[in-house]
Amino acid sequence: MIVTVTLNPAIDISYRVNNFKINKGHRVENGNKTAGGKGLNVSRVLKQLGEHPHCLGFLGGSNGKWIKRQLEIEGLEGSFTQIKEETRTCLAFIDEENSTQTELMEKCPTVSEEEKEEFLETYQQQFKKATLIIASGSLPSWLDSSFYKDMSKLAKEQNIPFILDTSGEPLKLGIEGNPFLIKPNQEELTQFAGKELKTMEDMVEVAIRICNQGVQNVLLSLGEGGAILVRKDVILKANIPSIPVVNPVGSGDSMIAGMAYSINNNLVLEECLRMACACGMANAMEEKTGFVQSQMIKQLLKEINITSID
Ligand code: ATP
Repeated sequence: MIVTVTLNPAIDISYRVNNFKINKGHRVENGNKTAGGKGLNVSRVLKQLGEHPHCLGFLGGSNGKWIKRQLEIEGLEGSFTQIKEETRTCLAFIDEENSTQTELMEKCPTVSEEEKEEFLETYQQQFKKATLIIASGSLPSWLDSSFYKDMSKLAKEQNIPFILDTSGEPLKLGIEGNPFLIKPNQEELTQFAGKELKTMEDMVEVAIRICNQGVQNVLLSLGEGGAILVRKDVILKANIPSIPVVNPVGSGDSMIAGMAYSINNNLVLEECLRMACACGMANAMEEKTGFVQSQMIKQLLKEINITSID
C-alpha cells in the first residue's frame, strides 16, 4: 500500500473573471471547488494508475469535513488527524483575457503538540502495511521545519522507501533524514544550492552532492525540458517530445505518482523515469489538475527517450 501525506491541505476555489480589476466588484459563475494539496493530487493519479493509496494529513473544521467527504466521493481512503483550527481556503481568480491568475492563500492552521503526536501515531500505524511513503508540499505553521526529516528517519528505520517533495528549509533538513527520493524542480534545486545553476552540469553536480549526503535518488524535473534522475551509480536523462500543454499545474505531483507506481511494481530504473515523465506530461495535457488518461500515457511512453549521462 502506498501512503501519501498532505500536512497542509486546502479547499481550492477558482473563479473565471475576465478583466479582473482591483477595487471593482465582479459577477462570476460558481467557483470550481476542489480538495487541494500536493499529496492529494499524487493520490488521485495513483488511483487512476490502479493503486489504492491511503491518505494522511491534518483536517479541521467544516472545511476539513468537506475535504473528507470529497475524497470519499473520489474513492480515496484516508486516516486524517483532526485539528481544532479550520483547514484553510485558497482562492484563485483566473483572467483568461489578460492571461493572469491572482491568488489568495489563507494562512495555515495551527497544529498543537497533541495533534502532532496523534498524527505521528497514525503515521507509524501505517508502517505495517506501507510499501512506500510519499510526503508532499509545505508544512503548516508551528510544525518544526525538521518534521519531514523525522518522518523520513522513522520510515527508514522500517526499511520503507520515503519520497519527499517539498522546498526551502523543510527540504534542506529533510535531506538529512536520508529519504529514498526527492523531486526538486530547477527553482527548488537552485534555492537549495544557494547559487544560480546555469547548465545541466551545474544541476547534476548539486544532485550528486545530495546523493553523497545519503539521498538514494534525486529526480530533477525540468518542465518541458524533461527530467534527470541522479543516483550514486547512474545518471539518466529523459528527453521528451513537445506536447500541446493545457494546464501544467500538478505535473510534478503526477510525476511523483508515476515514479511511486513504477517502484511499487518493481519496474527497472529506466522505465521508472519514463513512466514518471509520461504521467507529468499527461497531466500537463489536461485542464484538470491531477488527472491523467491511460491511453495518453501509453502513447507518451513510446515517445520518451532515456539516455545515460557519464
Ligand atoms: P508542479 O509544482 O506544478 O506540480 P513541478 O515544477 O514540480 O510542477 P515540472 O518540472 O513542471 O514539475 O513537471 C514535472 C514533469 O511533467 C516534467 O519533468 C515533464 O515530464 C512534465 N511536464 C511538465 N510541464 C511540461 C511541459 N510544459 N511540456 C512537457 N512536459 C511537461
